[in-house]
This record gives sequence, C-alpha cells and structure tokens, in this order.
Amino acid sequence: MSGAANSESSDDPMMFLDPHVHMVSRTTDDYEAMRDAGVVAVIEPAFWLGQPRTDIGAFEHYFSMLVGWERFRAGQFGIRHYCTIGLNSKEANNVGLAEDVMDLLPLYACKEGVVAIGEIGYDDMTDAEDRFFHEQVELAKELDMLVLVHTPHRNKKEGTSRSMDLCEEHGMDPSRVIIDHNNEETVEEVLDRGYWCAFTIYPETKMSNERMVDIVQHYGSERIFMDSAADWGVSDPLGVPKTAKLMLQRGIPEEDVRKVCYENALTAYSQSGQIDEEDWLDPPAIDQRQLYSGNSVLRGGRDPVVRDPDERREENLIID
Ligand SMILES: [Zn+2]
Repeated sequence: MSGAANSESSDDPMMFLDPHVHMVSRTTDDYEAMRDAGVVAVIEPAFWLGQPRTDIGAFEHYFSMLVGWERFRAGQFGIRHYCTIGLNSKEANNVGLAEDVMDLLPLYACKEGVVAIGEIGYDDMTDAEDRFFHEQVELAKELDMLVLVHTPHRNKKEGTSRSMDLCEEHGMDPSRVIIDHNNEETVEEVLDRGYWCAFTIYPETKMSNERMVDIVQHYGSERIFMDSAADWGVSDPLGVPKTAKLMLQRGIPEEDVRKVCYENALTAYSQSGQIDEEDWLDPPAIDQRQLYSGNSVLRGGRDPVVRDPDERREENLIID
C-alpha cells in the first residue's frame, strides 16, 4: 500500500469512495493509482465529453459504455464501478437532440449499477436547461430514483438555490438529492435545507483540498462528502485520498474523515438499492484473462493479473 491515509488508531488502511469521477476519460494507470491509494469504488455521472454530441447514437453509445465496458474495466483493476444516467445541462441547450435523449433515459436509468439520475442541473440557467432539469427530476420521481445535481460554476449561489427550489416543486425529498460542486457560499443553505452536500476537489483552483479541510473543520461531517470529478481536463483522480490525508494531518478525527470520504456518499447512494458495501468487502476475483465483448484490458503480451479476493491487497499473482 502506498499513498493511503493510514490512521494512527487503526492498522487497516482507510477505504475511499469517489462518488463523482469520469473514468471513461482516465487511464489504466489512474485505476491502479486509485486502487493503491485505497479507492474501493467509484460513481461515474453521465456528463458531456468536452465537445457537444451531434446525434442520438453518440449518447446511446456513451450510456451503454457507462453501464458496460467501463464497469468491466474498473473491475479488472479491483475497483467497483457505478454510474448515474442523465442529460447534462450544457447539451440540454440542443433542444431537438435533448428531446431524443429524454426518450432514451428510462432505458438506461434502470440498468444494474445505476444509482441516480444525473448529473443534471444548470449551466447558464437558460430556458432549455430549466425545461430538461424539470423533466428529469420528474423522471426520477416516476422511477423512484435519486437525483445528482450539478450546480453551475457561474452564478453558483443563485443556481444552487434555484436547483433546490426546483427539486422541491416536484416534491423530491431532500435526502434523496445530492447537490454537488458546492463551495463556502452554498454549503450552509444546502445543509439547512436537508440535502446531501457534495464538494468537488479541484487541484490548484476553485475548491482546493485546503479549503475542503477548512469546511469540514467548520461545518463538521454530517451530510457532507467529497469527490474528485476528475475528467478529460486538468484534474486529479486521487483528490479524495489526498484530501483525507490532509484532514488527518490537520487533526480532523478519523471518524469524520471516514464519513466525508466514504460513509456519507455510501449512505446517500445506497438508497438506490444498487450499491452495497458487500460489493467490495466480498469482491469477485480480479482476472484479467476475462473478456468483455471479446476485448481485454491487456496489450502486447502483457501478463494478466489474476488475484483472489483474499489476496487483493497483496502482491499480484502473475500467471503464465
Ligand atoms: Zn462531473
């Protein structure tokens, strides 16, 4: 084990859950580094890909990748993978295509390992964004699903308040809604109104891990959790374990660190019935000889890792 935030009171390495990370944009090195740092499970929200999609097939392939190949790929590196399905706010502005995506959502939202409708919400707070935000919260109600809300990076405070107003208009129970990308301006209102309050650790800018430590020191660990939101841009898939380490160094009790880096996200998302601690406490063996649609994660004659669950934190067993 390297890089894990070992506590003083326990010999067991801490386990981490990264409840918002876009793994389709990350490499196998990232999966290995995350696993070595103690990340046992990830949740991958459906989002945009940096360039707007121009036809419905692109959405269909993306959703099917989230519930299929990426789930398999994570498992090949000993990490359990879950996802959320939704139409992101940026692409909601292409109304014709957005309508087609709405027709597609129920099909994928009900697949195994889908823990919420998300990430949905506002980007520029346009009429189209408003419309599809409403429609998707309504869909979550119909399907009895949780909602993951992406709050806008501009006009954050207004956008966050409006997002919660909208959820309440549809009679969503705040305990079934995760509000993400919070900051010092929004944390108090989100907690006061009874929502799960998630923070994205952005390296260097926006919400740094130093600021995250200050927030937990000030507001405690109730209903607060954090994620890396690592994607195709400058980001750090080790945001959660690194911030946990910093929290322990700054004297935040291990119990609180465990809550904000693991337990609270698990409690929130396990309401979906799709994620359970047993999934990684009693995991299937890693066997890189396995194939998905005929494909393997291995290249160029590399030896497959085959590892029994009991040995999962031991050295890899290399077989011929
Ligand atoms: Zn995201």
